Amino acid sequence: MLQQTTVAAVVPYYEKWLGIFPDVFALARAPLPRVLKAWEGLGYYDRARRLHQAARIVCREFDGRIPDTPEGLRGLPGFGPYISAAVLSLAYGRPLAVLDANVRRVLMRLDRIRGGSGAAADRALRRRLDGLLDRRRPSAFNQAMMELGALTCRPRNPRCPACPVQSFCRAFEAGEQEVIPPPKKRRSQKIATVVGIIESRGRYLIQKRPPSGLLAGLWEFPGGKREKGERLEAALRRELKEELGAEVERAGLLLKVRHAYTHFLVDLYAYDTVLDKIPPFDRRRHRWVARGGLKRYPFPSGSAKIIRFLEGRAADHRHGRNV
Ligand code: SF4
Repeated sequence: MLQQTTVAAVVPYYEKWLGIFPDVFALARAPLPRVLKAWEGLGYYDRARRLHQAARIVCREFDGRIPDTPEGLRGLPGFGPYISAAVLSLAYGRPLAVLDANVRRVLMRLDRIRGGSGAAADRALRRRLDGLLDRRRPSAFNQAMMELGALTCRPRNPRCPACPVQSFCRAFEAGEQEVIPPPKKRRSQKIATVVGIIESRGRYLIQKRPPSGLLAGLWEFPGGKREKGERLEAALRRELKEELGAEVERAGLLLKVRHAYTHFLVDLYAYDTVLDKIPPFDRRRHRWVARGGLKRYPFPSGSAKIIRFLEGRAADHRHGRNV
């Protein structure tokens, strides 16, 4: 859950998750759509899928107890070296150091390592970290290092005056704490997507995404990516023709929402859409769902924003407000 976000942002999701799945057996028993629904808003849905698969293996092969050896964990989906070291040291006190992005930054600053990336640089940092590890208290050591990176030795504006290891820090001594590690150049790709909000007798048409690829298995409103140089409404007409085999009779822009993924930004344009006819659909891929029932389906964050808008619009209508 903590990938690419902060503990403070994750806490409500974590508490809700434990309310739904209080132990590994509850998670293993749950159908996948329920798991994806509970994960909604956290992104990186493959993590939820792998966690679910791992829970099933743990229940089936280990009587519901998470293995306490690297060999035991290796067979579980989602357990790479980082997660395995974190679980084994924090839960079982095994002397393994955890090297995450926060810890990497702290080490680079402590030793004033100005650059270097890739496997060789990682191996050098790992050797250094293994040398520092407190083998009697690996859990406390790992949590202290991760917290130091997350709260004090932050990527920008590190809080050096409050830092407990300032006297050992070579980057601080050289006044280079702001430039180590060098900032990554990241170009966010922008993607425009159009979707049709198609309503019939109080129900909305939604469709399931393919079982593999980005946001696999989640639900969405029908539509897709705008092609280069294409007008938004033309893209909507083309997408709905391709996906539903239907012609758009009328379409009016309802709202635009923006959602940032790690490497790209998605602008999602939702159109109130009327089709010329409602074609027959395959129920495994398409469903008509009443507005109140949309909450039961797992949607990507952008679509979830559209649903909140539809709920707000309905509430405004009920109260006689103009929208
Ligand atoms: Fe990070 Fe500053 Fe502490 Fe050095 S002194 S470890 S740069 S917070």
